[in-house]
Parts: sequence; C-alpha cells; structure tokens
Amino acid sequence: MKTLNDFNFENKKALIRVDFNVPLNENFEVTDATRIVSAKPTIIKILEDGGSCILMSHLGRPKGVQDQFSLRHIVKNVEDILGVEVKFVDACIGEKAETAAAKLQPGEILLLENLRFHKEEEAGDKAFAEKLSKLGDIYVNDAFGTAHRAHASTTIVAEFFPNNKCFGYLLAQEIESINKVLKDGEKPVLAVLGGAKVSSKITIIENILDAVDHLIIGGGMAFTFIKAQGGKIGNSICEDDKQELALEILKQAKAKNVQVHIPVDVIAADAFSNDANTQVVDIDAIPDGWEGVDAGPKSRKQFHDVVMECKTILWNGPLGVFEMESFAGGTIELGNSIAEATKNGAFSLVGGGDSVAAVKQFGFENKVSYVSTGGGAMLESLEGIVLPGIAAILE
Ligand code: AMP
Repeated sequence: MKTLNDFNFENKKALIRVDFNVPLNENFEVTDATRIVSAKPTIIKILEDGGSCILMSHLGRPKGVQDQFSLRHIVKNVEDILGVEVKFVDACIGEKAETAAAKLQPGEILLLENLRFHKEEEAGDKAFAEKLSKLGDIYVNDAFGTAHRAHASTTIVAEFFPNNKCFGYLLAQEIESINKVLKDGEKPVLAVLGGAKVSSKITIIENILDAVDHLIIGGGMAFTFIKAQGGKIGNSICEDDKQELALEILKQAKAKNVQVHIPVDVIAADAFSNDANTQVVDIDAIPDGWEGVDAGPKSRKQFHDVVMECKTILWNGPLGVFEMESFAGGTIELGNSIAEATKNGAFSLVGGGDSVAAVKQFGFENKVSYVSTGGGAMLESLEGIVLPGIAAILE
C-alpha cells in the first residue's frame, strides 16, 4: 500500500483529492471543519518535504456553476486550520487552473474551484480527469468520504499517474482501521449494529460474520428479529418482509460460531415523542399501542459485559432513538462502555452515518480509537467492497 511516506515531495506538485465537502451556514461559514482538520497532516507533510499542494474537492450538489457552492467560501477557514496562506483559483481545469498551478512555489497551497461545477466529474469522464492530471506531478487521494465513487478526481485521474500515486494519511488510516476490524483484529472481535433498518445493514452483517466473534443487534433493527422469532413487538419499527432473512442470519451466525446478542428488554413508549409515557418491558412482550425506543436496563448490562470482554470493537448505529433525549440513554451507556474498553486497550472503530453523529453529540469522539470520516464509504467498506478510489491507487 503506497502512502505519502514512500515519496519525497521536494520540488514536486502534489495534486491532492481532499474531501472539503463541509457544512456551511447561511453566512457561508463552516459549521463543522472536521474534514479540513483531517486533511491537515497530509498537506503539512508535503509542504515540509519542500513540495506544493494543489487541493481539489467538491462542495455540495451544485447544478452547473452556482456561487453558493464555490470553494472560495472556505478559503479563510482552510488557511486558519492549516496556518498557511491558501491561494484560490476559480477554475479546476483549463488555462486558468494550469497557470495558477504552474506558478505555485514549494511550500505553497492552491485550492481549485468546486469539481462538481463540471458534470464530467461525477460522470468519471476520462478527458476531464486528464485535464486535472496536468496540474500536478504526484496524485494523492486523501478523500475517504468520496472513495466509494468512481468520479474523475477520486478514481479515473489515478490512471494518469501510474507510478506517482499514493494514499494520503487520512485515507490510509481509514483503510488500516477497517482492516484492524475485518482482517486482523485482536480477538474477541465485536460488531455492534444498531439503527433503524435491517435492510440497510444486511450486506454488512453477512460480510462481517466471517470476521467477528460477537454481534450485538440493537436499535430499531432488533424488532424484526424478535418478531421473526415469534415475539410481540407492539408498534415497534419492523420490516415484515425481512423476517425470513433475519432468521437466516441467525442460522448463519450459529454456523459460523458467532454469538449474537439481541436486547432482552426495552424502554417502550406510548408515542414517538420525547415526553411520551414509558415503561420497561421484555422485548418480546411489548403491549399493543407501545413501541420499543431504547435498550432496557438488562440489555445495557448485557451489552456492557460483552463490550468489556472484547479486544476489537466496531460500532455502527444507535441503540435507540438517540435524537430524543429521553431515549438516548442506551446509546450513551454503550458509548461509555466502548470508551472504557478502549481505555483498557481495546481498538474501537465508530463508523457510518448516525453513530458518528451520536458519538460527537455525546462527546465520545476522543474516547474511541477511531471515528471514520466517511458515511457511505464506510458502510460500503464494511460490506466488503473494495472502493473504486482505493482500488485505483492499489492498481
Ligand atoms: P441508521 O441510519 O440505520 O443507522 O439508523 C439511525 C436511526 O435509527 C436514528 O435516527 C434512530 O432514531 C433510529 N432508531 C434507533 N432505534 C430505534 C427504534 N427503536 N425505533 C425507531 N427508530 C430507531
């Protein structure tokens, strides 16, 4: 796996695909700069080598050229975070971009305009990728958040750098973290899958059964399993057409010696609302008119014990409706358990959509080993797919 450390960037221009697709408020201020901060080590290493950086990214989903999606808006933020002046050019290909790139001196940074102002970017257009490739000497991909897309700047452009392409530190770290769980995780390995739907996690479950010793199935997903086993789930969220699949998964898990843990009790609410009436009931005996919205106390204890036993932990998906304060307890307790296990030496990876939001919201970000920066990219990796952006560097 070629990374930055395999290259000396002295007097070289690095063409770096970063993921600066950051959220902006109505005043065009960055409201969460995590992705910019995450790209910093790669950029600094190249500058310290005596190279220069040409940064390319998309921002939002523009339809053609739309000023509100210009990367110009984030120049100041990027400068503040990197502590280095950032030049900006309002083009990403063509003469203007080529001139700006050619002028760049060692130690300097140039940010290109939004790649998605050109429809060729998402189409993975080869001629567009070739134009991008003219800007730099070495291609660096550090954008995990878009590595699952075969776009011009994330995948196709790599073809034009057959011997001069590598992963940035962030992308390398994402790959290593996934491998630590799926390939060479210290045993026992645990995956905690929660969230709303079985259907969105099914391929992940099937893929990770070969890698894990324990599987916790929590959140709304659990009810499909309980109903399939004949339990009464009241009004709880359920995918009726996935019941057979749920039983099949349990069978596969047994055949592969994976211990599956499903909540035994739940907090049931009489409405999907933060101030609903609640009661703790067995998960397979939820009264009519009530729905399970969070893990119950016995389940939390059960999950805590499993977490504390494991040396490698993957967490994807909340254990309850964590957006409502009254139903966030199970997710918070799980986060605390994972933090404690991490402190005791376990490796913990949090990834994919809502679990990252939960981890940030409850302040666990620095208490787990790694929080993935990619939602969809992380989910696809866990499904066992070699992402096109990663394959393009490995080829
Ligand atoms: P996902 O995107 O599949 O990880 O699902 C995350 C969503 O699952 C969050 O918005 C949670 O509110 C929701 N969720 C978790 N547990 C439950 C539950 N018991 N009932 C309904 N929704 C749930």
